[in-house]
Amino acid sequence: MPETIVPDPRVPAVSDLAEYNRSLIEACPDPLIAIGAEGQITDTNQAFLAMTGILREKLIGSDFAGYFTDPELARACHREAFSRGSTTGYPLAIRHTSGRLTYLLCNAASYGKGPIGGARVVVIAHDVTQQKRREEELAQLHADMLVHSEELKQRESEITRINDLYEVLQACNSQHEAYPVIGSVGTELFPKASGALAVSVSRGHQMETAVEWGTEPRMAASFLLDDCWAVRRGQTQEVAKPDALQACSHFQSPPPGPYICLPLSVRGELLGLLNLRCAPGDPPQPKQRHLLTVLGEVIKLSLSSLKLRDALRAQAIRDPLTGLFNRNYLDETLRREVSRSARHKTMLCVAMLDIDGFKAFNDTYGHHAGDILLKALAEFFLKQLRASDIVCRYGGDEFVLVLPDTNSQQVSERLDRLRGEAKEIECRHEGRILPSASLSIGVAQWPDHGATSEDLIKAADSALYSAKHGGRDQVYVFASLQDRTPPPDSTADRSTGDQSG
Ligand code: GH3
Ligand code: MG
Repeated sequence: MPETIVPDPRVPAVSDLAEYNRSLIEACPDPLIAIGAEGQITDTNQAFLAMTGILREKLIGSDFAGYFTDPELARACHREAFSRGSTTGYPLAIRHTSGRLTYLLCNAASYGKGPIGGARVVVIAHDVTQQKRREEELAQLHADMLVHSEELKQRESEITRINDLYEVLQACNSQHEAYPVIGSVGTELFPKASGALAVSVSRGHQMETAVEWGTEPRMAASFLLDDCWAVRRGQTQEVAKPDALQACSHFQSPPPGPYICLPLSVRGELLGLLNLRCAPGDPPQPKQRHLLTVLGEVIKLSLSSLKLRDALRAQAIRDPLTGLFNRNYLDETLRREVSRSARHKTMLCVAMLDIDGFKAFNDTYGHHAGDILLKALAEFFLKQLRASDIVCRYGGDEFVLVLPDTNSQQVSERLDRLRGEAKEIECRHEGRILPSASLSIGVAQWPDHGATSEDLIKAADSALYSAKHGGRDQVYVFASLQDRTPPPDSTADRSTGDQSG
């Protein structure tokens, strides 16, 4: 008896196979297409229709490769499946009719009998869009991090540069020493821009350009405060498109690109102006603005302390009433001048000048009138003497002149003229003209009348004593020891004028 075959309930019956396959194809969540040898689509599923947004009737029979963003790669996948029987992991992408892009990893296998290998290829595409997006986001994050780390490095190097600048400026002895340092740091911090630092002069009424950097100097050498809009408004001024109307007047000609002016003030005192000029079409970025502000802070603090130092130094060597050098400066300078004359084998004279009867002048016209006369004399000496001569207020109504490269004969003639001209000085006090003053002058020559600076001063003082003693209002050249009777005490009161000598 033939054995009765009992159908396995787990296997679909042959009559159900077509329906069974269809349901498998449609139930597959991944897009699927069957492709003929010529590349025409012979079957597809719902997932593929949803991914392309194209109707099944339109898809069937059309060329499959055209639905992929890279048709050549899609064809390569098709070819490989035909020739090898199967292939995996083709990275393809499909664009929906709405424009939405789906990234896929495609596996393909051939089946049936065809002239080359299989008759058809089934491609199953797995949607990897989310994974792809995550990869792209990660790559973007990485790129952003690289940019940030570059920017951090840049910021760090700028901060280091500014710290270095601060330290160097602290070590500068004067404002003039600081200017070129500021210029070179400006070039380093703003390599694509030009710039300048101007500083307040004339007791803050004017500005002078101290240093410029970059390719095109443009600032006027000196200008008025009103020439800068930023200074007028007391705040940073940024001009995007400078033209003759908008640009500050401190430029020789309006800059071709955007610029920033930053006033530098400390405790209400305007010390200077920082200017940054960008190339046309390259406006200042927020980080450049910030950097300029930080640079301005460092410069203004340094300028302020250097100014204070300059003032203290000037106080140490200048007489506050007349502005002439003081005795401290004279002591230092005369020693230097004596050794210079010794080195160069040149002559050197020292003259000591004293106002005649100044005590009585003060008593008659008042101390303030006396001050006016002292200042007028100081101005007169500075105007009349050579640039190489040094004029000092020695104390009270005494002045000392250091006159290099000249002998006592020439000096005595020059100073005698000066003595006469000094009487022409017209001083006014409280609406009236003050009487002129006469001068007594003692002259000593190096090395004949004194080998050291101290001896030279003593000799000039002694000659002055002789001039006073001789009747005042005259120039007296130090006489040699044999020729003269030394005064009993050269610091003795010269006011009586009747000491024997
Ligand atoms: P002589 O012809 O002998 O020089 O007579 P003199 O009156 O000028 O005498 P002396 O040179 O000794 O007097 C100096 C006077 O200068 C005394 C003092 O009142 C005055 N004096 C010193 N310093 C100043 C100052 O800063 N301002 C004014 N107004 N007077 C001063
Ligand atoms: Mg006097």
